[in-house]
Amino acid sequence: MKRLRVLDTRLPSIDIRYLNVNFSGFGVYDFLTFKRDGKDFQIGIARTALNYGGFRYWLQCDYCARRVVELFITQKSQIACRHCIRATYESVNESTLHRQNRAVRTVRARLGWEVDCLSYHIMQRPKSMHSTTFNRLLTRHIDKSAPVIARLKWAGWL
Ligand SMILES: [Zn+2]
Repeated sequence: MKRLRVLDTRLPSIDIRYLNVNFSGFGVYDFLTFKRDGKDFQIGIARTALNYGGFRYWLQCDYCARRVVELFITQKSQIACRHCIRATYESVNESTLHRQNRAVRTVRARLGWEVDCLSYHIMQRPKSMHSTTFNRLLTRHIDKSAPVIARLKWAGWL
């Protein structure tokens, strides 16, 4: 686990496209660290292979694990992608939260799991369920629970 220290920044966001670092040697690093207002921050780096060779580098959101080009620093010094920030601060109203939670609970009920979103240890396929169905529901579960997990992490529950 190697860390790459980048410039001190006062920007409220970190954009990997504008980072003042040498990208040719970037692949050996897993984390970026930087300082802002005297605080140390650490960001995960991901990379994906390009069709024509080489790699594209991404910042990884701590809350939802999305690969993004830009992360934002909140007033509480949390670093998150725009999806997570929007999910918690801007457009999410009571009914959105309700709908997201209900969608997860519905899938979990079909899977025969604990419906509570915090129960993550039970991930088994019900004996009577075909594996194709199970895989489909598993994918749906991942999709539906992503915003809920992001929110729970943001709120400090996970
Ligand atoms: Zn995120």
